[in-house]
Order: sequence, then structure tokens, then C-alpha cells
Amino acid sequence: MPSIHLIGDNAVVRPGKIVCLGRNYVDHIKELGNEVPDAPVIFIKPSTSILADGGEIIIPDYSNDCHHEVELAVLIGKTGRNIRTETAFNHVAGYGVAIDLTLRDVQSRQKAKGLPWEIAKGFDTACPLSDFVPAAAISDPHNLTLTLTVNDTLRQNGNTGLMMRQIPQIIAEISAIFTLEAGDIILTGTPAGVGPIVSGDKVTAKISQVGELRVTVA
Ligand code: MG
Repeated sequence: MPSIHLIGDNAVVRPGKIVCLGRNYVDHIKELGNEVPDAPVIFIKPSTSILADGGEIIIPDYSNDCHHEVELAVLIGKTGRNIRTETAFNHVAGYGVAIDLTLRDVQSRQKAKGLPWEIAKGFDTACPLSDFVPAAAISDPHNLTLTLTVNDTLRQNGNTGLMMRQIPQIIAEISAIFTLEAGDIILTGTPAGVGPIVSGDKVTAKISQVGELRVTVA
């Protein structure tokens, strides 16, 4: 059973659902040729997809094109439904570094057929995740630099200030659909620069003030 850790808190948190936002940075929407969405693009990864820092990504044998997407992860600390934007930050316990691994070839086929994305997004090890820093340690979650390197080559370099939907709006919109419980995690979308990873790659994702995450590909 995966667990998650909030730095400074001895309690081991059992992760709940991982609610992910797609298409939240304009530069990434353009690189995949998608349209800017009117409503949020939401999907869920199961908690079994979590891979701890230092872990090994296992790319399923039904894909030949696994992409990295570095994302700011938000840990929910207080349960709520229909949370208002004005009080949304009261529900945030901490922030972490996540990689939304995506089997792009599989996702493209699913999209073309109008089928769900879970087999492209929710497989075991599809969610590498760092420890979380307490929310109080982050001065402004909308001004953080995100980078991702593969074998020391910079692939992604963005800033959370470029999110189209910001965290309070994301929490409000998601909690109007799903009750958000303590231990749930939200992935807030990726900036441009996504690309493939292959066996033997060393992947490092960093977010300023939040921390870093190092994983390898089996
Ligand atoms: Mg993503």
C-alpha cells in the first residue's frame, strides 16, 4: 500500500484519489495541438500508481511512448465538498513534486476512439511523487519554477504562474464533482516540453521551494 509523507508531520498519510487536471498551461496545449478547454479536463489516477522518490518506472508492455509531465501536486488536508475559492487554501496541507506519466501512444488511440484515458495514465508507477512540504512553507504557490531533466538534459522549464486555472479555482471546480478528502492529491497540469522516456533514463523533477524527485526507468 503506498503512503505519502508530509514533512514535519510524523503521521504517515494514506493517499486517497489523485485528481489530475489536463490542459492547464497554454504552451503545453499548443505543443499537443489541443484546444483550450472551456471546462476543466479532469481524470483520476489510482493511489496504486504512486511511485516514491528513488523508485523505478515500469513502462507497460502495451506502450512504446511513455511521456514525462512535471506537475505541482497539492495535498488535501481537510475534507470538503463544494469548496469556495475564498476558503480553498484552508483545505491544502502541503505541496509536492509529481510526474504525470502518460503513455502518449495509448492516450492518442483512446482519444481518437472517445475512450477513457486510465490505461494511459493510471498504470502502476504512473505517478512518481515526492514528500510534501507544509503549505505554510510556500510563500506563493503560483510563482514556483518547475523543471524536469532526463539524463541531465533540460526538457521542461516552466512556472506555476502560467497555470490558466489557479489552485483555488481548481479545488472549487473539482470539489463540486468529487468530495475532496484528507489524503487526496491534485495534480495541477504540466507546462510545455513533455517528451519520451526510455529504459535506463534518469529523470529528475524539481519545483522551487517544494523539492525534488529522482526516478529511473527500468
Ligand atoms: Mg498532466
